[in-house]
Amino acid sequence: MASRKPVRPHALATQVLHAGDGMHAAGDPVVSPLVQSVNYVQEPGSDDLMYTRYGNTPNAARIQRRIAALEGAEDALVLASGMGATACGLLALLRPGDHLLASQYIYGGTHRLLTEEFQQMGIDVTLVEPFEPRAWRRRLRKETRAIFIESPVNPTCRVLDMRGVSLLTKELGIALVVDSTFASPVNFRPLEHGADVVIHSATKYLNGHHDVLGGVVCGTAPYIEEVRQKEIVWGQTPDPFACWLLERGLKTLDVRVRRQNDSAQQIAEWLEGRKEVRRCHYPGLASHPDHAVAVDQLDGFGGMLAFELSGGARAADRFARRLKLVRYAASLGGVDTLVSEPRFSSHARMSADARAHLGIPDGFIRLSVGLEDAGDIMADLEQALR
Ligand SMILES: *Cc1c(COP(=O)(O)O)cnc(C)c1O
Repeated sequence: MASRKPVRPHALATQVLHAGDGMHAAGDPVVSPLVQSVNYVQEPGSDDLMYTRYGNTPNAARIQRRIAALEGAEDALVLASGMGATACGLLALLRPGDHLLASQYIYGGTHRLLTEEFQQMGIDVTLVEPFEPRAWRRRLRKETRAIFIESPVNPTCRVLDMRGVSLLTKELGIALVVDSTFASPVNFRPLEHGADVVIHSATKYLNGHHDVLGGVVCGTAPYIEEVRQKEIVWGQTPDPFACWLLERGLKTLDVRVRRQNDSAQQIAEWLEGRKEVRRCHYPGLASHPDHAVAVDQLDGFGGMLAFELSGGARAADRFARRLKLVRYAASLGGVDTLVSEPRFSSHARMSADARAHLGIPDGFIRLSVGLEDAGDIMADLEQALR
């Protein structure tokens, strides 16, 4: 195993509650106070400025220490959204004239950022089929400065093997950046597998309650300082209340994700045996193409799964309208179970044929498993499938 596990003072379930927090004096509040102030009194003549946009105010600083501890990173920065995190995280690494290699299986917003915005800024991006042998090495240029991947992948739940790509980035001395939103640090910690930078949409599992938009970048302290400079000028800093809510959501990350892992496994096994379902995509199933990689690298298979209805688009329309408990909504990683269809969300800009080529035929349903009883979720899916 290439894995290098750092020594943790406490288990992750404890760290989500306490890492980076030292409030033990009599009279200290048990819950972090919300400091909803943009400005702070300074020592006259000092340039030591605390300001919300600088990402250094109390609620941001506390959650940054905590998330850095969860990922085993030297430092972390919270930003206003996952997109803000990806943009600032990559702009801190890349200059005009640089080249970025990115997996072709990435979030739709990230795809747009890389192929439209970055190209306009003179940063060249090549999208790579990461499951092809030697894919990364063959697309390298002397200007290549970083590799960007997302794993597990939306919506097919493919799991990228970190081994080859991390050996390559180490050999070349370039950065390996991983969007780990789908896994959360409970199931996967990329830095233990050779990544240099970890990005999250905190909107998803880290907060987990469908009520905060946020993002995180984790890495070395000097790199995070570069990201902070981007955050400051591009104005990508979250409000203190968003940070406070994120801290509150994070406290239950370990119990939420473990429960979601268990429920998703049960639901995937059940779906796989249904005659209405042609195929179920879940890394915890032996039938999944990356099951062996997932067993090797992940601590849990996650709360995201997908399935293809034999009846195609018409069956999907009927299924979606019949759901009573599970709701039809984009987004993922929260306490409520949600279904969505890539043909209307992440992959809406593509033709049906192009989607089918990517393994996302019409009738493909994505399921983000929430915290409802797994039996109740299956009962609702069953009455909608029948
Ligand atoms: C949602 C998502 C993003 C973007 O996050 P926002 O918080 O919506 O800006 C980036 N990457 C992945 C994998 C996502 O699921």
